[in-house]
Amino acid sequence: MSYTNFDLVEVRSLRPDHKSIYAKRDIAEGSLLGFFDGEARVAELAELEAQKGNDSFFWRQSVHLRIVGSQLLYLIPVSEPDGVDYLNHNCRANTRVEDQLYVYASRDIRAGEELLADYRTFNLVSEDIPCWCPEPRCLI
Ligand SMILES: [Zn+2]
Repeated sequence: MSYTNFDLVEVRSLRPDHKSIYAKRDIAEGSLLGFFDGEARVAELAELEAQKGNDSFFWRQSVHLRIVGSQLLYLIPVSEPDGVDYLNHNCRANTRVEDQLYVYASRDIRAGEELLADYRTFNLVSEDIPCWCPEPRCLI
């Protein structure tokens, strides 16, 4: 199960099928918000490219660790998602993900702000779908 600093972070439901995380209080730049985990897996990049669009669970939930040759080393969740697992994408992110795993505040964040990361900075395999945040013309 991933770790979330629940002193700083809370999960809110935006819709029945969509959750996000928010700052519970003012958060200082550089604060650790949580880190991801999962079961270690290996996949051929060519097979992932062929499956694009067919497996939303993989694309939404996998943590891409490293590309080695023709393979992607990644983590896939083995327990119910919670906390930082609901970190959503935005091109104007207020968090950063270091080493593909560790989520930090990338600036001072006010209580009540949605916590967002730019997936393009840490997903090694692009999903090639239009971004759903307000920025025009971006791809994740
Ligand atoms: Zn965007």
